[in-house]
Amino acid sequence: MNKMWMGTQIVLNDNAGKDVNKGDYLKKKLLLAKEMLDLNALIVWSDISKKNLDLVREICVEYKIKTYLWYPVLADMPGMKVKQEEAVEAFNGLRGAGRLGAWNNLGKREEDFLFLCPNDEEKVTKIFGHYEAKIKECGFDGVFLDRIRFPSPSNGFELLFSCFCPSCVGRFNQDFQEDLKNYRELIESLFKNLKNIKSVVLENNHSLFEIIYKNSLKHFFDFRRQSIYRLVDRFAQKAKKMNKLVGIDLFAPSFAPLVSQDYRLLAETCDWIKPMIYCHANSPAGLPLELESLLRAILKLNPGLDENELMCKTSPLLGVALPKNLKKLLENGISEYMICSEMQKIREFDLPERIKIYAGLEAVQLSGLCNITDKILKKYLQSMIEAEMQGVILSWDLLKIPEKNIKIVGDFLSKNQ
Ligand SMILES: [Zn+2]
Repeated sequence: MNKMWMGTQIVLNDNAGKDVNKGDYLKKKLLLAKEMLDLNALIVWSDISKKNLDLVREICVEYKIKTYLWYPVLADMPGMKVKQEEAVEAFNGLRGAGRLGAWNNLGKREEDFLFLCPNDEEKVTKIFGHYEAKIKECGFDGVFLDRIRFPSPSNGFELLFSCFCPSCVGRFNQDFQEDLKNYRELIESLFKNLKNIKSVVLENNHSLFEIIYKNSLKHFFDFRRQSIYRLVDRFAQKAKKMNKLVGIDLFAPSFAPLVSQDYRLLAETCDWIKPMIYCHANSPAGLPLELESLLRAILKLNPGLDENELMCKTSPLLGVALPKNLKKLLENGISEYMICSEMQKIREFDLPERIKIYAGLEAVQLSGLCNITDKILKKYLQSMIEAEMQGVILSWDLLKIPEKNIKIVGDFLSKNQ
């Protein structure tokens, strides 16, 4: 087996950012990662001062680690707070967050996860300007584009049916010569169907996306995928013209269609993809939270459904066994084996060979959000070897990854490759 490419992410915008200089703290942490993991790349959250950008870059040059600017495009951008009334608009007029299945912590933590519309030209142009300036300022080797999607189930089920803002109405008309507003009614009728759906019907589905899809909505969902593609292409092209490498952060394949991330389309824009195969994180993009939000919404829409049966019927769609109920799903997470089933789905996309896939898996310990123990980490690593991964990105903040976790990964890789 070839040596696995190793990356990790780092957030220096909180108190840690102020202390990075103290006692060469950052330098020691990076040296440790270099020695134990033979780290190839460090992905640095972009809300960081010029002074710290320079410091990180200098250390990484010394240790031969490539640097990437981690840029969130549509939510939680540096220095720009998205107001709810500016966020994407669902079919029923709700903005940014819905009522069905939404995450309780939405908007209560450091990151809001309120998404702007990719077709909001005025806002996107402003972000693009800041992004370009930041690329110049940091002098890094590449960019890593994050939050390049529509809202997920953790924003509330209704938001899976966005966006209906005036920009989208105009653009949709231009692309399809149709009135987007007609789709509001079609979506309402889908909601009515879901109210009466029997669990057995779910057996006919092949993916989570089929739960929210009907042929009559084809143009609507095509439009969403193309809107995300256009946005990512614009940001990626700019970086490429500046001779930067481009990595993108995508939902795991089973969930990506729900947020209109199309692997085949988006592979055209980048050098590598990080599928977020987070089997334990109870935060947006984390599979337990996203699945729990989605299924909780369906149960709320249709109280006649049996929770256990719904979980059983959903399990084949993901290729792993699921716990008996939603509470257990949040407590115990999803089987780490999901790395293998998700990687199989990526292989079926038949992406160009030049596109590298570096699986994102959590290694952090964060109270209440994600607690990766030795046992979990070892199962992850075993699944990674089984899935024949080309590379891995330990997520999502080196400063919150315990040293013993770094050591476990390093020891495992040195024995298995
Ligand atoms: Zn819109």
